[in-house]
Amino acid sequence: MKKLLFVYNPYSGKGLIKNKLMDIIDIFTKSGYMVTAYPTQCAKDGYDKVSEADGMYDMIVCSGGDGTLNEVISAMMTHKADRPALGYIPAGSTNDFATTLGIPKNMIKAAGKIAAGHIFSYDVGIMNGRYFNYVAAFGLFSDVSYKTPQNVKNVLGHQAYILESLKSLSNIKSFYLTIQSNDIEIKGSYIYGMISNSSSVGGMKGISGTNVELDDGLFEVTLVREPLSPLELQQIVAGILSKTQKSPMVERFKTNHIVIESDKEVEWTLDGENGDSHERVEISVVEKAIDIVI
Ligand SMILES: [Mg+2]
Repeated sequence: MKKLLFVYNPYSGKGLIKNKLMDIIDIFTKSGYMVTAYPTQCAKDGYDKVSEADGMYDMIVCSGGDGTLNEVISAMMTHKADRPALGYIPAGSTNDFATTLGIPKNMIKAAGKIAAGHIFSYDVGIMNGRYFNYVAAFGLFSDVSYKTPQNVKNVLGHQAYILESLKSLSNIKSFYLTIQSNDIEIKGSYIYGMISNSSSVGGMKGISGTNVELDDGLFEVTLVREPLSPLELQQIVAGILSKTQKSPMVERFKTNHIVIESDKEVEWTLDGENGDSHERVEISVVEKAIDIVI
């Protein structure tokens, strides 16, 4: 029998998995796998377990939120043997990446899709030696976005939510940055930046622009300049809300390599989790690094 490692965070998404576990394992067993189920015991445990599993399994399936998925792919990137296919059963609250990949929110349906087995190879990002699935970000919205519950965002709607984030202009922290990406070099004060490979970030669809491809070797860069007047603030709102319209305050381009330097430490998030503070970050794309089953 083929071997499958099922790593799940038992507390993700209010512990919903508890009532589905038997059905999920049964689905994998029926499709020909000997299943090892492993509930993560603490933060980073998923990373350790999957690191140790180098070369031992034909498939790794994980269930949890963005943090769990980040641990699992980061560990898989350390494997010396051929990386097995990855299955993902989303269980967190936002699940941007699952939305982008079209993975069902229903856990049993997601498990069924994994058993059916269509492989899609997607690009993974690396920032200063740490991997990320779909987004590295700093500044204003990154923080607000992840701390705002999905139901609040649903009620407020996309526009109201952004306006809410921009309301207290006096609290906006700006960073003077030097940005280099292949032939592009930019300097200026920015309040937000995001390097993403997802059509949905922080529960907001389309924020990274249009034509997002997960396997093109390119990530989308979104940079928001510091507003110095109400007009500029308006231009930011318009620039973020419109996926296509050019705004002088919002810069968008695609890259496979970018270096962002600041004169002070900038706090980053990776897949919505703490990404530490850095004065210099270097981000590259590892093309088609992970084979996910969708
Ligand atoms: Mg891409």
